Amino acid sequence: MIDLQDVTLTYPDGEETLTAVDRVSLRIAPGTIAAITGPSGSGKSSLLAVASTLIAPDSGTVLVNDVDATRLSRKETAALRREEIGIVFQQPNLLPSLTAIEQLEMMNRLGGPRAARKDVLARAHELLEEVGLAGKAHKRPGELSGGERQRVNIARAFMNGPSVLVVDEPTSALDQARGEAIIELVVSLTREHRVATMLVTHDLSHLPAMDSVHTMLDGVLTTQRAATEQLSLVD
Ligand code: ADP
Ligand code: MG
Repeated sequence: MIDLQDVTLTYPDGEETLTAVDRVSLRIAPGTIAAITGPSGSGKSSLLAVASTLIAPDSGTVLVNDVDATRLSRKETAALRREEIGIVFQQPNLLPSLTAIEQLEMMNRLGGPRAARKDVLARAHELLEEVGLAGKAHKRPGELSGGERQRVNIARAFMNGPSVLVVDEPTSALDQARGEAIIELVVSLTREHRVATMLVTHDLSHLPAMDSVHTMLDGVLTTQRAATEQLSLVD
């Protein structure tokens, strides 16, 4: 679960400061997906940077599974991010010399406790299969299409079993059909792996599939459609 409470982020802007995120609150439950739309420069990526603990906010709290990331040390924050947060940026930032399976395998080498190589490989293969790339495990980014590279990027974000997934405009470099398939994949992985997903998208056609829809404007987040609270009914 991710719970942003009254989060504000400013950047220095000459003599002034620019408020990129203005007192935003947003809570996303496991297995659900919140869509964020809004014009360029409205603060969407800044909000995702705060949610993924890459930038500490000026004020407010960032709760990841009830742990307040804003109160952790740098090292603790890095560990929380590595273990709990899957990050997918606009452009797949894959290493050109590594095959698809190696890109995933590498996630186990980023400073955390190392798992047995056999288990890491098994998980990587499973994830590549889930994103529809079972036959392309040994291809390098140059041998994959834009959509396939984005699929590797998404599979990689799941390697360490995150509880939160943060996705920034994953379809902007893709055509309509490939873009749609990527969004469908993000939705199905969200349900399957029960991650709390924050998705920035500029394509309004996907919005009906989302659990909640929000618009960002000048750093202010407005909820267009709220998530139905999942009540546990006694039967
Ligand atoms: P969006 O993702 O909605 O296009 P951003 O979060 O990238 O918006 O940017 C929000 C505002 O913050 C913009 O005015 C942008 O110019 C500014 N901004 C973004 N990143 C930085 C930065 N690292 N330093 C200073 N200003 C920034
Ligand atoms: Mg952006």
